Amino acid sequence: MWRFNKKHCAGMLVMGLLFAAAIADVSGADAGQPQNKPQGKLHSNFTTAPVEVTKIADGLAMLSGPGGNVGVFYGPDGILLIDTGVSGRDADIRRAIAQLAGDKANIRFVLNTHFHADHSGNNAAFAGTGATIIAHDNVRGRLSTEQFNDFMQRKSPAWPAAAWPVLTLGDSGQIWLNGKHAVLKYMPPPAHTDGDVFVIFPELNVLQTGDLFFNGIFPFIDYSSGGSLDGMIAAQKKLLTLIDDNTKIIPGHGPLANKKDLEKSIQMLETVRDRIKPLVDAGKTLEEVRQANPLADLSAWESFFDVGTFTELVYRSYTLHD
Ligand SMILES: [Zn+2]
Repeated sequence: MWRFNKKHCAGMLVMGLLFAAAIADVSGADAGQPQNKPQGKLHSNFTTAPVEVTKIADGLAMLSGPGGNVGVFYGPDGILLIDTGVSGRDADIRRAIAQLAGDKANIRFVLNTHFHADHSGNNAAFAGTGATIIAHDNVRGRLSTEQFNDFMQRKSPAWPAAAWPVLTLGDSGQIWLNGKHAVLKYMPPPAHTDGDVFVIFPELNVLQTGDLFFNGIFPFIDYSSGGSLDGMIAAQKKLLTLIDDNTKIIPGHGPLANKKDLEKSIQMLETVRDRIKPLVDAGKTLEEVRQANPLADLSAWESFFDVGTFTELVYRSYTLHD
């Protein structure tokens, strides 16, 4: 249960709420209230943040700003777009793609790394111009039915059918395009959700993680959709085994990353687990844990969530409900 009368730091709480609203609200209707608190290259106001283009390798770029990071795998055969930002940003995303691949670039495939609305918000728009929407089997199930987010205490309606994936994956798949290929792999739950797919570009030594990894910031743990903190740690450790010192990583949120950034994230999440789980196991209430402020020295990771809100998210992810 989210209680709005707690002693939250108001500014950070607003960011966390807006972020969670962007994730939870498939309509995107109230995800964009002005709140003007960008942190470096990271913006939580997904509906107005500029689209920033980071070229990563030959035929691969990252778009940041309009939601979760977007991967653009482009070349003469056409484009694979990985995630689609929040609703209403399709024109901005297309403009950024045109800079990379020209006005005539054909977006042939869209992959959703998971169902959250900041990664799937423009599915219908891209499907409408001919893209085939691809995702894990469970993503189609979630996008096509009403969802309930426990942390937000919020229901979201199903997406319209035009936004649903038409090609669904089980464990893995490949897309062969532009003389290279993208390997799509399912990360079984618990991780971020129950439909997480990450992407490896073997010829380019790039990994796109979706929200299995937030770079430099506290992540969202969607414990009501199959996610958990322990699962996030296990997933990140698995990803670590698949990369080397030169791998470039497109995280779900935050700037382009490398192996060291992923290692730091694992270390931080393990610290969070080691401080909060014993309190949960000892039967402490949420209020007692918040008072203890076990993450006080981790404020460098604040962005969407401050230490108090993240403490609450982790506590709830362990207890599910209080
Ligand atoms: Zn997410």
